Amino acid sequence: MRFGDERESSNFEDATGRSGMGFGGGGFGGGLGCLLPLIASRFGIGGVIVLVIGYFLLSSLGGLGGGGSGGGGSLVPSSQQSAPAGQSTLDPNTRHFMLQVLASTEDVWGKLLNNQYTPTTLVAYSRAYQSGCGAAESAMGPFYCPTDKKIYLDTEFFNELSQRFQAPGDFAQAYVIAHEVGHHVQDLEGRLDEAHNAQARASETQGNAIQVKVELQADCYAGVWAANAKDPEGRPVMEQGDFEEGMRAAEAIGDDTLQRQSQGQVVPDSFTHGTSAQRMEALQRGYKSGDPNVCKF
Ligand SMILES: [Zn+2]
Repeated sequence: MRFGDERESSNFEDATGRSGMGFGGGGFGGGLGCLLPLIASRFGIGGVIVLVIGYFLLSSLGGLGGGGSGGGGSLVPSSQQSAPAGQSTLDPNTRHFMLQVLASTEDVWGKLLNNQYTPTTLVAYSRAYQSGCGAAESAMGPFYCPTDKKIYLDTEFFNELSQRFQAPGDFAQAYVIAHEVGHHVQDLEGRLDEAHNAQARASETQGNAIQVKVELQADCYAGVWAANAKDPEGRPVMEQGDFEEGMRAAEAIGDDTLQRQSQGQVVPDSFTHGTSAQRMEALQRGYKSGDPNVCKF
């Protein structure tokens, strides 16, 4: 991506120096978390925790080892905390890039929604933190919390993306942020509430299917953002090879791919984010069109 001296968003909280309370397990559950948006307000914190752990067990990539079921009360001091309390552990380059991406999403969605867009806030934390939707942990992956309208991200996820998921590159990282911003757009549009209500009447399998649609729309919105992301001179910030980086990330975090890697088999009824092929198609659909209307479901 070709970011120059584009502005940084000010809708940002660096909590990396204030977090550092962890479950001690480390590792990531895999994929773009996002489990909270559809669950939090409907079932409360208990439901969130149970479903998140279910996700871990399915993926068995995370290192929670069953911890965390007690919610915030089970937080224990992390033995791996390296920086003194209160001191940011965020890499300045990562911070700069994230805030330029976030600012760009604000510009793009401001235009696409005719200035009806109110920005989300990005919270960078390390290992564990308290979100408006309960405990945020690295292992959950990045997520959007509709209660406080904030995105929670441990930037270690970017390292996971490039190393374990073999999806390096700046656009792979931008895609993660833009996907979560996509959930915020859905929230503003009332789609998350609609999905909550539909899930409340649905079986678990049907509820998962609804969530897959919501997640694929967020992927599509990420593509829409990328297509519309311009520098101050109006030139696209996407460069040769960027889109392919995003597609590799979308492929790596598809439900079928994650399940095959972790448990050796695929259980479609349990999908919550869509297959690799579906995620790639959604990202591509948004990117090729640049029009959020192609993301409707
Ligand atoms: Zn999501």
